[in-house]
Amino acid sequence: MARKVLVLAEIRDNALRNVTFEAIAAAKTVAEGGEVVGMLLSDRASNLASELIAYGADRVVTVEHDQLCHYTADGFGQAFLQVLEAEKPEGIIMGHTALGKDLAPKIAAKMELGLISDATAVEVVDEQVIFTRPIYSGKAFEKNSISDGIVFATIRPNNIPALVKDGTRTGEVSLFNVEIKDLRTIIKEIVRKTSEGVDLSEAKVIVAGGRGVKSADGFEPLKELAKVLGGAVGASRGACDAEYCDYSLQIGQTGKVVTPDLYIACGVSGAIQHLAGMSNSKVIVAINKDPEANIFPIADYGIVGDLFEVVPLLTEEFKKALV
Ligand code: FAD
Repeated sequence: MARKVLVLAEIRDNALRNVTFEAIAAAKTVAEGGEVVGMLLSDRASNLASELIAYGADRVVTVEHDQLCHYTADGFGQAFLQVLEAEKPEGIIMGHTALGKDLAPKIAAKMELGLISDATAVEVVDEQVIFTRPIYSGKAFEKNSISDGIVFATIRPNNIPALVKDGTRTGEVSLFNVEIKDLRTIIKEIVRKTSEGVDLSEAKVIVAGGRGVKSADGFEPLKELAKVLGGAVGASRGACDAEYCDYSLQIGQTGKVVTPDLYIACGVSGAIQHLAGMSNSKVIVAINKDPEANIFPIADYGIVGDLFEVVPLLTEEFKKALV
């Protein structure tokens, strides 16, 4: 059954986030040959629409309004609902990001829709769209479908591969006017805690430090390794609680959930709450002094040793290999 599927594009630092391209790929599956419509909510005209098309969108609706300069649930919610009203899609896909986690349930509640959140895969079986999502902190997976109404889902970054970019694709780009009023939230300033480096939730490589790094300075060799691999630095709650790093780096049940291609855990014991945030990583490397550490059974490669010896050695070897 061909469907029209709307994809909310996420913009950061004037660029589209990767999860947007993954959402378009998911929308293609849901659309079953129907139309995939990208939606850009922003305060200014941009050239991002063509990139959405290059990654698979058939058409793009751009909304420009000065109240859409920064994300607010209020402002984006109002704009989103007006586009929904006009477009009447049969499917909606967005990233399971901070923005998606905030906005999607509000839209679903307002429209009285079902919502499947944090999907890691999508398929169509007998015309029924089925999403896979992790449950019990990633220990099991369940398959969900929406039997009636709009197929609405948020997708976990780094799980559904984006389509290959095709710069020759063309599609209509239209401007849609919205009215935004009575905003209850005004963003005055944004203070970034992690301004440098790769975004943790979208990183393909993560080098994570635990209490075993012993100090804030102990993170330096990890940062060096992450830099060589083009990755991001993450942390266990143990390291955050000990004030070795900021809580924005925390991975786990009460931190970020990540699925990089490569996760290197350094001085992390492997508590169940930490595993909840990273156990679905594609390849896990664990470096720990304790051969009995809980991280080893879930690791693809384990190195029993002192991280302060092992990590610089790895960095040197990767430097040689990657030149
Ligand atoms: P530790 O358990 O102290 O482990 C440190 C490890 O470093 C040890 O295995 C040690 O052998 C190794 N080590 C020490 N020195 C070296 C060295 N030189 N070289 C190599 N290895 C070395 N935790 C999270 O991470 N994320 C969460 O989201 C989270 N949420 C939680 C929610 C709740 C409700 C609760 C109760 C707990 C939560 N925790 C979370 C905390 C979790 O239970 C653990 O306490 C925490 O993950 C431990 O952090 P750690 O592995 O860094 O520290």
